[in-house]
Amino acid sequence: METIQGIPVSSGIAIGRAFVLDAVERYVPERRIRPEDVENEIERLWLAIGGALDELTALRTKTEEELGADPAKILDFHIGILQDPTLMTPVQDRIRDGLVNAERAVAERFEQLAQQFRTMGSAVFRQKANDIIDLDRRVLGRLLGQTDDRLSEIDGAVVLVAHELTPSQAASIDRSKILAIATDAGGRTSHTSIIARALQIPSVVGCHALTNTTQDGDKVIIDGEQGVVLVRPESATVESYTERQTAQRAKRLELRSFSELEPVTLDGTRIKLLGNIEFPEEATTTLENGGDGVGLYRTEFLWLTRNHAPSEEEQFEAYRKALELLNGLPLTIRTLDLGADKYTQQQSEEPERNPFLGLRSIRYCLQNLPMFKTQLRAIVRASAFGPMKIMFPLVSTVMELRQTKMLLRDVCEELEEESIPFDRDLETGMMVEVPSAALMAKVFATEVSFFSIGTNDLIQYTLAVDRGNERVANLYTGAHPAVLQLIKSVVRAARRRSVEVSICGEIAAEPIYTMLLIGLGIRTLSVVPSQIPYIKRVVRSVDIERCERVARKIGTFDSERQVLNCLRDELRKVNPESLTDSSGDA
Ligand code: PEP
Ligand code: MG
Repeated sequence: METIQGIPVSSGIAIGRAFVLDAVERYVPERRIRPEDVENEIERLWLAIGGALDELTALRTKTEEELGADPAKILDFHIGILQDPTLMTPVQDRIRDGLVNAERAVAERFEQLAQQFRTMGSAVFRQKANDIIDLDRRVLGRLLGQTDDRLSEIDGAVVLVAHELTPSQAASIDRSKILAIATDAGGRTSHTSIIARALQIPSVVGCHALTNTTQDGDKVIIDGEQGVVLVRPESATVESYTERQTAQRAKRLELRSFSELEPVTLDGTRIKLLGNIEFPEEATTTLENGGDGVGLYRTEFLWLTRNHAPSEEEQFEAYRKALELLNGLPLTIRTLDLGADKYTQQQSEEPERNPFLGLRSIRYCLQNLPMFKTQLRAIVRASAFGPMKIMFPLVSTVMELRQTKMLLRDVCEELEEESIPFDRDLETGMMVEVPSAALMAKVFATEVSFFSIGTNDLIQYTLAVDRGNERVANLYTGAHPAVLQLIKSVVRAARRRSVEVSICGEIAAEPIYTMLLIGLGIRTLSVVPSQIPYIKRVVRSVDIERCERVARKIGTFDSERQVLNCLRDELRKVNPESLTDSSGDA
């Protein structure tokens, strides 16, 4: 048996036979052609490109029907490349000038493009190299008389093992046939991971050499919660995972009943549980899990799933759709948080040396005013269609916030002049995710009506630990007393000014932190929708006095180890099953 640790992307346990989708290296014959054959060869080229375009357009339509508009837009990049004459005409020129066959010219051109993407600084660009390889296969498959349909050979329920799935492969997956996905490469923010989560297929990425150790038909276990893949497990292991799988399913069913219950503590305090979403359709998932609305809509996914900036109209439709799906429950829209690990495909500037400390989020927006104003217009216009709040990410100085609010006022005035309806009481808030903002919360509290503490970034900036670097992952924890002190002081500053305060970082979704956060005075948590029932269960088994006692005790500790031990002990006392079900720091 081989045990491989990867990155958990989509939870659940699956046991099944592997279907290994190798990165098949096609043999691309090189043929010299005669000058009189050039036109014929060029015609073959455009026929192949046309066929691949038809295939991609059909796939896009299918994806839109099954997954919604945003995941489908991932395919716009592929379609855009094939339709771009500046990218495709050189292939034709190579045939004409070099007298080589169409297959060879295509293979050379796509390898060149993939290499260009690979050498770009940002991870998003590097991932684009895989999209190019996917296109290469599609066009070459047609020229060589083959179609890239290995995926369509799947005729039973299998665990899909691949070096890396391209987004279009992931989008073409038949849910009824794929039990789980495991890939050698990939990260949590790769398009394939986004689609896997949208499909709710247990998935683990970043498994390094998994495809080297796995053969077609091997039995494999995928644990999407722990990020573990077991290849050719012994029967005792299969038995124990089958039990865990059954238990997990039963627990999920049992937890579903929590969706309908109120998140009220034993002494009657109502805690608000909201969802974090990336696509409008997830508003529905939030409601199904019993959420009180959306506390964080990461709008940058509108940019990340396209190869062009979304228009005001496209954005407006997405925001309005999320509001409609929420059916009267509130939506907190976060303005564009691009930069750092999240670059748009069109980003053409030199890679930054320290992108997490560079031109990201609100800084990026304030340097790209037309784009930012377009987003603000779309958001404000959508505010006429339901309860909405607007929130700004990565604010680190008061001037930045004031400048942003001024822009927002300008946009409102413009809409007013154009007689376009909007919510005149639109609440404005900010993410507190940089130590400078946390330390100056008292000042910021005079500027906004709510704070949302983004611990994912606050931890990395406070502890100087890259949130995406597995080599320092052991140092990345929300239990560090420095992080907890910052949260405490933000809550205190917010309360003094009657500013609403919530937490939307991942720690809000980890049951081990629930008592502590409530004890620190937090009454609103925004979490990945599927975690809402888990947090509800903890909320319903504690009272405020106990939580405050826990927070006071934690305040006396000077190491994260003491904090975590104490949190574990306290959770065990009130709700032991939450300890065994949860992941992360627990
Ligand atoms: C955070 O930083 O905690 C947060 C919620 O924002 P994101 O994870 O999108 O950076
Ligand atoms: Mg953040």
